[in-house]
Amino acid sequence: MSEQEQYDVVVIGGGPGGYVAAIRAAQLGMSTLCVDNNIGKDGKPALGGTCLNVGCIPSKALLDSSKNFAHMQHDYKNHGITFENAQIDVKTMIDRKDKIVKQFTGGIAGLFKANKVQAVHATGTILADNQVKLTQGDKVKTVSAKNIIIASGSKPFSIPNVDVDNQFIVDNEGALNIEETPKRLGIIGAGVIGLEMASVWGRLGSEIVIFEAMDKLLGAADQAIAKVAAREFKKQKMDIRLSTFVKSAEVKNNQVEVVYEKDGEKHTETFDKLLVAVGRKANTENLLSQGCGVELTDRGQIQVNDLSQTTATNIWAIGDAVRGPMLAHKASEEGIAVAERIAGQHGHIDFNTVPWVIYTEPEIAWVGKTEEQLKEEGVEYNVGTFPFAAIGRAVAMNQPEGMVKLIADKETDTLLGAHIVGANASELIAECVVTMEFQGCAEDLARIIHAHPTLSEAVHEAALSVDKRAIHKMN
Ligand code: FAD
Ligand code: NAD
Repeated sequence: MSEQEQYDVVVIGGGPGGYVAAIRAAQLGMSTLCVDNNIGKDGKPALGGTCLNVGCIPSKALLDSSKNFAHMQHDYKNHGITFENAQIDVKTMIDRKDKIVKQFTGGIAGLFKANKVQAVHATGTILADNQVKLTQGDKVKTVSAKNIIIASGSKPFSIPNVDVDNQFIVDNEGALNIEETPKRLGIIGAGVIGLEMASVWGRLGSEIVIFEAMDKLLGAADQAIAKVAAREFKKQKMDIRLSTFVKSAEVKNNQVEVVYEKDGEKHTETFDKLLVAVGRKANTENLLSQGCGVELTDRGQIQVNDLSQTTATNIWAIGDAVRGPMLAHKASEEGIAVAERIAGQHGHIDFNTVPWVIYTEPEIAWVGKTEEQLKEEGVEYNVGTFPFAAIGRAVAMNQPEGMVKLIADKETDTLLGAHIVGANASELIAECVVTMEFQGCAEDLARIIHAHPTLSEAVHEAALSVDKRAIHKMN
């Protein structure tokens, strides 16, 4: 038997948490192995985790294709551009998405090579004494690691009496591979996935019904923003039913029969497809062996402290597998911070400034505290808002919906939260993140010159509005 391989760092998981952590560890001169067990749509090993394979990137590819189609049908005529009988070939749309996924998952192998990260397609199981068992089919070997970074990600939650077959009843993966626009698409969960997928398939012509258990939409968002979003989704004919509980779903004659309860009454409705998007849970399958010392929380996540250390020495955990928002950029930044801590540096991550983006139309983005949270915490604040309808660029783009809302500390003017619903909110939020990261004030944003005409002028005007001196609206 050959001598056991030893690494400074073994990373388990090749998603945006794991592959980024591995690259940073290797950049810092540590011998690094990244173990990942994901299989791509073509049946071959594919790095990139949920994000690149069945999450962020493929969903955004479909969102863009469907957005172009919707604009062509509904908006271009305002510009004087008309088409007759616009068509979308769903297969071409899906193939384009698959090509983009392949380009990016393949790109990680190139990055690993350039940074001298070793990669292996296997399932990693943590044994006692920082040993990692690698299982690939019937081949098994054990490597030893001075440090282990767990980045095993997450998988969808299921609900009782609703069995995902990824043909009629789909999860996020199946929803990205539907080959013919469903006439009626039912969605369980009006969360991020539900709303993004409703946008994709609704724009292509599906009749959308969303069943949401909570009594309000987008509970984590500032409710002024959620209200604007709800109004826009209604215009897009998304039928979002709050306080509604799906009891069961069954495939009958190539249709899905859904039984749900609303206001104490049972109803039955039939759909061509049903998407289950009710959240995700940490993936710890085959990851931990008895005696490895890593403990789980009561929610099944890997237990970590603020520095991402688990309960076992020199074993760290990041990304969707641990507490905090399930976002790719949060996973990556944690990965970088942990690699730097292992190398003896002071890896930094500020959990108060993690931006959220929902890629609906209009886009929704926020960072920091909502007005509801500040009220609950008893913090005194000032609010500034500005509508995109008063921004020349937004109107020229034919996208005047939405607004920017900034919240600043009443006494110090420090920016506490920024909330945007509108065109390009995903990009506009970045300057608010920078301001918060630098502990800047609304006044700082108000004094920065913003190019004209741009959508960013709405951020500028909202900052002025915090001090009741916006120029292009009544204060
Ligand atoms: P993952 O990306 O889940 O990667 C974990 C990897 O580890 C997987 O490849 C898995 O196969 C592998 N693995 C697990 N266990 C083992 C083991 N024992 N041995 C070996 N390998 C193992 N986030 C955003 O920020 N923006 C978005 O726009 C966005 N869109 C999304 C859209 C959808 C449809 C979904 C589902 C998610 C989206 N997310 C988005 C969330 C984002 O994908 C996750 O937050 C992110 O992928 C988490 O990264 P991770 O590295 O922690 O885990
Ligand atoms: P989510 O937590 O965003 O939303 C789930 C929704 O389902 C919630 O509104 C919840 O109240 C509802 N729900 C739960 N159980 C239910 C039930 N039995 N019946 C009806 N409704 C029910 O989860 P998701 O949409 O599955 O997405 C998972 C994670 O993936 C998100 O938390 C997010 O972190 C990540 N994600 C991010 C993006 C992005 O950043 N743009 C996009 C997609 C996914």
